[in-house]
Amino acid sequence: MRYISTRGQAPALSFEDVLLTGLASDGGLYVPENLPRFTVEEIASWAGLPYHELAFRIMRPFVEGCIGDADFKQILEETYGTFEHSAVAPLRQLGANEWVLELFHGPTLAFKDFALQLLGRLLDHVLSKRGERVVIMGATSGDTGSAAIEGCRRCDNVDIFILHPYQRVSEVQRRQMTTILGDNIHNIAIEGNFDDCQEMVKASFADQGFLKGTRLVAVNSINWARIMAQIVYYFHAALQLGAPARSVAFSVPTGNFGDIFAGYLARNMGLPVNQLIVATNRNDILHRFMSGNQYFKDTLHASLSPSMDIMVSSNFERLLFDLHGRNGVALAELMATFKATGKLSIEEDRWIEARKLFDSLAVDDEATCATIAQVFEQTGEVLDPHTAIGVKAARECRRSLSTPMVVLGTAHPVKFPDAVEKAGVGKALELPTHLRDLFQREERCTVLPNVLASVQAFVAQHGNRGKPL
Ligand SMILES: *Cc1c(COP(=O)(O)O)cnc(C)c1O
Repeated sequence: MRYISTRGQAPALSFEDVLLTGLASDGGLYVPENLPRFTVEEIASWAGLPYHELAFRIMRPFVEGCIGDADFKQILEETYGTFEHSAVAPLRQLGANEWVLELFHGPTLAFKDFALQLLGRLLDHVLSKRGERVVIMGATSGDTGSAAIEGCRRCDNVDIFILHPYQRVSEVQRRQMTTILGDNIHNIAIEGNFDDCQEMVKASFADQGFLKGTRLVAVNSINWARIMAQIVYYFHAALQLGAPARSVAFSVPTGNFGDIFAGYLARNMGLPVNQLIVATNRNDILHRFMSGNQYFKDTLHASLSPSMDIMVSSNFERLLFDLHGRNGVALAELMATFKATGKLSIEEDRWIEARKLFDSLAVDDEATCATIAQVFEQTGEVLDPHTAIGVKAARECRRSLSTPMVVLGTAHPVKFPDAVEKAGVGKALELPTHLRDLFQREERCTVLPNVLASVQAFVAQHGNRGKPL
């Protein structure tokens, strides 16, 4: 399988090179040159497979030529063996023909584990084959950092540096990052906000001289391997609900458009998905596009669902590429306009094409809490605020009552106690067994000033398992 850039000017790459790259050299994002397509008979024959075996069948075409079947099978078995629930991604029924797909049984209790547990293992496999080491740098306001650190903690060939804004992440989220100890794990608290952290990571990718030749790898959701891993659970859920004989609808709590883009790909690979709902919080750039063809930057609002607090959606370009007939030149122009003006609209017929599959809703904090309370009253289930937004959007935007509606349950409620408390749900939430002693564990973290040179000097000093590069 080869991968091409959405802006048409960067060289096509193999899976291995895409894994080790962030943005394409022309500023675009990598996508598969040809998407695999499965027949109805093939999909039907996968019913009842264990998660890792289904994952093997779906992802094999994407890694073909880079990772051998036996190795890949073993990596997948290990990856999904770390999940606490034997079904890996169980479905829980909430209402009539309405389900939550619980994606929070991985080590850090959010869906990001599905991709990052795999990414760490794939990186280590490829790097040990090549005899190389890499440095990972990432910025986080919460879930990504802990999932990335958990995914890389046992990687021999990776040093990971995660920047978070000092005293601006929740205690659970901080402890999930800082209590993972290892000489290749480096938590840095920046005396600044999340944007400052992100800017420093961006600047480090743009000018890598401080790394003395060591390669820098991205773990944010522009990394293709993360999208790839997320395609699997759409198939897994739909197969349990009668696909491919029956269609299924999904409602997806959305920020950077990575998770829902995987659902769109699942459909293009042959899964009968007849509706995808983009559920956003008050940061609603995607809802503005889906409802009115207006995609423009607005101010960032802090919400009760912080993992979806974004101004622009980094993966949206991948959908725009398809909507423009995969014309890289047209996309490069469109994205240049967006960069210059902060806004874009697309031709009416292309937008109508998108609306055949996608619906959307923006849900504010008040409605989020009301939904947590309503679902608790109806079922006794406590939802996390991101998942609650998905449920609200599913109930508002649903096209067909006879089609099973699956809401992606993106995080465990114990990660977001503030929202649960604000919703008036009086049920005490317990950390899962493997995190019971989280508040007693030793933490390791370095506080640094909001100065790029200090951060880069720190990385250069510690980038080789705690020793200088
Ligand atoms: C990251 C995250 C999201 C948003 O996913 P995207 O792929 O960025 O759209 C939603 N909910 C939770 C809990 C997350 O951690």
